[in-house]
Amino acid sequence: MRPEELKLQEAGGAASPAAQASGADTVRTLLPGSTVGVLGGGQLGRMMALAGSAMGYRFVALDPAPDAPSGQVTPQITAAYNDRDAARELARRSDVITYEFENVDAGVAALLAEESYVPQGSALLYTTQHRLREKAAIEAAGVPVAPYRKVDSLAELKEAAAELGLPCVLKTATGGYDGKGQAVIRQEEELEEAFRQVAPGEVIPELVLEKFVAFQCEISVVAARSASGEVKSFPPSENIHVNNILHLSIVPARVSADIQRRACELAETLIAGLNAVGLLAVEMFATADGELFVNELAPRPHNSGHYTMDACVTSQFEQHVRAICNLPLGDTTLLTPVVMVNVLGQHLDGAIKATCTHEEKDNKLGIVPKLHIYGKTESKTGRKMGHINLLCKDTGDGLSWVEQSKLWRN
Ligand code: AMP
Repeated sequence: MRPEELKLQEAGGAASPAAQASGADTVRTLLPGSTVGVLGGGQLGRMMALAGSAMGYRFVALDPAPDAPSGQVTPQITAAYNDRDAARELARRSDVITYEFENVDAGVAALLAEESYVPQGSALLYTTQHRLREKAAIEAAGVPVAPYRKVDSLAELKEAAAELGLPCVLKTATGGYDGKGQAVIRQEEELEEAFRQVAPGEVIPELVLEKFVAFQCEISVVAARSASGEVKSFPPSENIHVNNILHLSIVPARVSADIQRRACELAETLIAGLNAVGLLAVEMFATADGELFVNELAPRPHNSGHYTMDACVTSQFEQHVRAICNLPLGDTTLLTPVVMVNVLGQHLDGAIKATCTHEEKDNKLGIVPKLHIYGKTESKTGRKMGHINLLCKDTGDGLSWVEQSKLWRN
């Protein structure tokens, strides 16, 4: 018997009595001792379970990989995400269910909602799984997005480009991530090639053409809303991507205090307007003249919120658990400037050496590096294996630490 099977048997009872119904039928307060079921067992689920376990919650994850990151720290049901019996088992053992990724099968979401308590519901998942639905919802909440047009054919692309003006970005409405499924179009001659690249097959997927925003920087705000409607947001992080993968989050973001305040207000307006429960990560573009446009939403903990684990009074993971369990939300105050740097497969050995060996431990910049490794069994180039939160007196020092380590120069 594998250790996780043993753990499963020990933890295999039905949902616990610590779950208390309170107030309205649809809002329940789940106190520590309750079991949180998590659809997905990746790094986000693992960090959620680590934060929630410290408060006395129990966790159970559903993931197809036998040695998933969260399965190393919590009991795991090993089965496909769309396995109905496994979903039923997750529901039976959980007082409350959440998810750590967006592409949750609609049928499974409905089944879980019927057989357990899913305070986040599935409406927001449905919205954020599709760029056009997402943009419409953002606009309906009174929040700006970059001008865009729906596109279904090359002829429509040409028309939309003429209306919006170039440069533009063509994106698939579903399924794209980390810059995949999109192309920047700077000149008219590039339209056909971009269309072929983003819609290569015979069946043309739904597409969206967006005006290219000449942003000064990309920022994101993670906001939280509890089941009873309390809303709080974390300080904005400035995000730097390399090869379309998040490389650095810099907090405080290097934008004016006014932009920071408006970014938080905008995220709070959105999470309240969408009636979301749990976390909502709001990615936006900040322009040099102080405009903010929302690019994307993620209804879950977000990579750009990992800095909160060591730099804020409450981490985004604790906040998520608080929100779905309807506890009072935690204080989101930033305790120290911080630079979060992602550790991809190609950085893993060096990052461990730079933070865990005696010869590398001293640094003149006065940085406190806090290492987080996700326990993924296979390390691959470009795969997120962990991150380091560099606690610093000034984010410039954190950036110098990254530069001087030479690890990330590739
Ligand atoms: P997305 O998949 O929408 O998150 O886009 C990936 C990256 O492409 C973003 O982080 C931006 O750096 C860039 N990008 C996407 N849309 C736009 C846009 N409308 N204007 C400028 N840059 C964009």
